[in-house]
Amino acid sequence: MEHALAGTSRSRRRGTYIDSDKYTLADFMEHKDKDIFAKTGLCYGYITDWKDKGTHQYQRALVSACKNRVMVHDKVLGANRLMTMMASNNYLGLSTHPKVMSAARDALEKYGTGVSSAPMLSGTLDLTRKLEKKIAKLKGCEDAVVFSTGYSANVGTISALTRAGDVVIIDRLDHASIIDGCRLAEGEFRIYKHNDMESLEKQLKKCRAEFNGILIIVDGIFSMDGNLANLPEIVRLAKKYGARVIADDAHATGVIGKSGGGTGDHFGLKGEIDIIMGTFSKTLAATGGFVASTKEVVTYLRYYARSYTFSAALTPAILASVHAGLEVIKNEPERREKLWDNIHYMHDNLKSLGFDVYPSPPESAIMIITIGDEVKLRQMSKKIHEEGIYVNPVPFPAVPKNKSRFRLSLMATHTREDMDETIRVFKKIGKEFGVI
Ligand code: PMP
Repeated sequence: MEHALAGTSRSRRRGTYIDSDKYTLADFMEHKDKDIFAKTGLCYGYITDWKDKGTHQYQRALVSACKNRVMVHDKVLGANRLMTMMASNNYLGLSTHPKVMSAARDALEKYGTGVSSAPMLSGTLDLTRKLEKKIAKLKGCEDAVVFSTGYSANVGTISALTRAGDVVIIDRLDHASIIDGCRLAEGEFRIYKHNDMESLEKQLKKCRAEFNGILIIVDGIFSMDGNLANLPEIVRLAKKYGARVIADDAHATGVIGKSGGGTGDHFGLKGEIDIIMGTFSKTLAATGGFVASTKEVVTYLRYYARSYTFSAALTPAILASVHAGLEVIKNEPERREKLWDNIHYMHDNLKSLGFDVYPSPPESAIMIITIGDEVKLRQMSKKIHEEGIYVNPVPFPAVPKNKSRFRLSLMATHTREDMDETIRVFKKIGKEFGVI
């Protein structure tokens, strides 16, 4: 790090001046200095220059509800502008569904704003248990437990189950919350090559000889790639080697499966995946997470998943909105159909323009356009923003080096006009940068 930053000069504002085009966020994690804050000054200089260049497209504040068209406060313009939202995981448009909103309002009136306690103490409402039962039903499991975020559901579950002598086996592209759960667990963890079942079996063989319990955990739909895990094969291998499986349905609930039930529903594996974890922060347009499994596993987690036991419970408005959202998933399948029409329309058009679209054919509402070079990604994202399209640029270290990408999320509420406008802008900017 010291070496890499040689030649930089002192600051124009605060921190050290750093040419942001020459670095990535990964360069500011480790820095040997007697002052533990030294790295923050360097990083501040890097971020300041990145913002000054106008290519920092993060934390753009919405001043409206998150719909297909959003009002965004543009810091460069110093004014609000209308943009087409292509970066939200509000896949079915539930955040502004009248029934979801009115359920949240009613709960606020009846129960107040919050519970001010952990769920094991005075933080459980009648709504909580009803919601846990509803989720268990959707996932084909005996019971479920809700957490305050999806992140804490993964961290708490993995660390509660994996003790000294046990091992977790994860896919190389698993979500950060899974990796952090492994880091926190007393047991060890091993990684297999992305969606490579031979690599998984190799790890299983080795681990079977070395460890006690084995837990395999995968994103059902990979969050930064949008593709499906090979769950039928993972479940088969797990049975062969006496391992247990967790599927993370964060991006699958409400999107895939005949009744929107997620990966188990999609693959015909309902009841065969040992644990289904998921979030309320995508399709269900709230915050929170859940774990569905047997009564024994769920009960165990209530006492040993520290992120559940020692963290405040979900608020009444969230619980009620998720209840209502699950009803919409069940009763309005036309939303899921519209979402899939939109996914195919967007995929086919971008593909025919010559973009490197992944996965192809699409497997979820997440669509990746790989650009590779990070500086090009930043410059393109500035232009795409100026053209009024809100899309997420995803650089290293969130994805492997030279795999920088745009991550688009489709919603049921996108209109043909929204998608045509996005396609027009991507075509224009893609040509300008020699990407197509
Ligand atoms: N798992 C996956 C696959 C995710 O994509 C996310 C959210 N990005 C999470 C877990 C964490 O969920 P939450 O945002 O609800 O904490």
